[in-house]
Amino acid sequence: MNPLARQIAEIIRRDGPIGIDRYWNIALYDRGAGYYTTKNPLGRAGDFVTAPEVSQMFGELIGAWVAATWAAIGRPRPFRLVELGPGRGTLMADMLRTLRGVAPDCLAAASIRLVETSESLAAIQAVTLERFDLPIRRCRRFEEIEPGPTIVVANELFDALAIRQIVFDGEAFRERLVGLSERSALEFVLGPQTPQAQAAASRLSPPMAGAVLEISPERDRLASRIAARLASEGGAGLFFDYGHAATGYGDTLQAVKAHAFADPLDRPGEADLTSHVDFQRLGAHFAAAGLAVSPVKEQGDVLLALGLLERAGQLGASEDTAARQVIEQAVARLAGNGQGQMGSLFKALAVATRPLPLPPFDAAVPD
Ligand code: SAH
Repeated sequence: MNPLARQIAEIIRRDGPIGIDRYWNIALYDRGAGYYTTKNPLGRAGDFVTAPEVSQMFGELIGAWVAATWAAIGRPRPFRLVELGPGRGTLMADMLRTLRGVAPDCLAAASIRLVETSESLAAIQAVTLERFDLPIRRCRRFEEIEPGPTIVVANELFDALAIRQIVFDGEAFRERLVGLSERSALEFVLGPQTPQAQAAASRLSPPMAGAVLEISPERDRLASRIAARLASEGGAGLFFDYGHAATGYGDTLQAVKAHAFADPLDRPGEADLTSHVDFQRLGAHFAAAGLAVSPVKEQGDVLLALGLLERAGQLGASEDTAARQVIEQAVARLAGNGQGQMGSLFKALAVATRPLPLPPFDAAVPD
């Protein structure tokens, strides 16, 4: 047991078994020893590689999307360009470089806001973005952002927010909790039947014994806050995440360390925890606020529609064979649907005050 596991065991001895969400928040965000507090998780040297870390093309295409979206919502000046959970700042850097090249008027109108909870990642973001010499502000919470029209982007943010798991035991729904085994190791246990668990599962068709439903009050809360703001201030959002298009049963809780799967209860604070994002539920929060919501599309389809192949061709034109191969591999990783590729495992969802003539909205958008 590492020190954080001992601390969690102490809490369980005192309070009884805890929800996966409480375990998750200690493991990832504990101020002293949490994963996002102490580690530099992203990139080749870290534990996992995200799309912006695979290739500059990802951020460039999103930058082009932002420019086109800004034009489509009437070129508001000023507007807030917000990234939630910017990691190492790579996506924002690639977006800003693109905006500077293709849409300087959009960039001039943008006040850039980075919403980041982790102090160490916020420090890395500041260094990454220093060279742009732009008024960029870090916020700890989304609610701190000043009023005004807003374009918000996020990659792999929602999958980093805590979930709870509800298990059907053959007769009733019970919450899966983290407890202690006889030998005082952390282990999953089933909690008592709860009406809340029953209600969460009752919207789906009857499950088989052992089926797991994942819910996330934290994701729900953040999505509805973003939705409320976009509805009142105007604007749009684009969200990429690892997830599924429709609500369903499935245990997708996963720990990742050094690019391999790990046991989620083993050595908390030393591995990342994630789970699939339920895009149907995410979209429902935006629809409930009266926003236009795109279909849920696969990441690969969206990047191809935004011009991934054309951009790869442009970048490769002046390169030698070896460099071109690296670009081709990045295209396959971002948009392919084979093993280890992100194209169909990751989904994209866009929302806006009204439908946009842009992916992932369907091509035919009424005026
Ligand atoms: N978008 C980046 C990083 C993804 S990792 C990329 O694609 O590379 C998740 C990021 O979300 C980290 O930066 C993490 O610190 C941040 N984060 C986690 N919870 C958050 C919250 N509630 N609000 C804002 N950022 C959060």
